[in-house]
Amino acid sequence: MERLQKVIAHAGIASRRKAEELITSGAVSVNGNKVTELGVKVSKNDRVEVNGLPIYREQPVYFLFYKPKNTLSSVKDDKDRTVVTDFFNVKERIYPIGRLDYDTTGLLLLTNDGEFANLLTHPKYHIDKTYVAKVGCIPTRSDLNKLENGIVIDGKKTSKARAKLISANSQKNTAIIELTIHEGWNHQVKKMFEKIGCPVEKLKRESFGFLTLGDLKPGQHRELKAFEIEKLK
Ligand code: URA
Repeated sequence: MERLQKVIAHAGIASRRKAEELITSGAVSVNGNKVTELGVKVSKNDRVEVNGLPIYREQPVYFLFYKPKNTLSSVKDDKDRTVVTDFFNVKERIYPIGRLDYDTTGLLLLTNDGEFANLLTHPKYHIDKTYVAKVGCIPTRSDLNKLENGIVIDGKKTSKARAKLISANSQKNTAIIELTIHEGWNHQVKKMFEKIGCPVEKLKRESFGFLTLGDLKPGQHRELKAFEIEKLK
């Protein structure tokens, strides 16, 4: 569900503020009923009319993207850095669902479906996310246990995770670790490794629930299949 004023603004008819004025002045109806209150939420299937004319609502689209490094999980940047939507040539106004850090690579979903994006980024939405990290230490089994049993970061304890040592280079004092977490807090993986005294040098998200990058190369994307979208809901 999305706020009516946002839906109207997204249709390109008016700014958010002007959309609010249209609502309060009685110009807007939802499924044939006039709505003058602000804050009403509508779903994709509700018919919204402004001055008796239906507004154009974009068809929802869903993409799985392989984010390259040095790319912002955003749709624009004041400093003109590369953003994820630079890799798309679509007419719909898509945006990333959650974010990966500028230097993190890997699986990122993008959509123009606000309801879907809200669902997947809600704190109660838990899905396994698997990361592969190159770290500047060789964690002991006890370090890995700490990651797995939950670590307090920013006053909150992470839920049970899975941590697997993939390889270690004792000369360089680095290791490759696969870490599966359930939440999606800001910089969570880097902070978890920081807590065991192990800086993350490189980070890639390999999977999001049952979704993986498959054959995609950095910068490439594919549309999600209908069954994948349903399964995520
Ligand atoms: N955790 C991080 O620290 N960074 C990311 O980009 C994703 C998860």
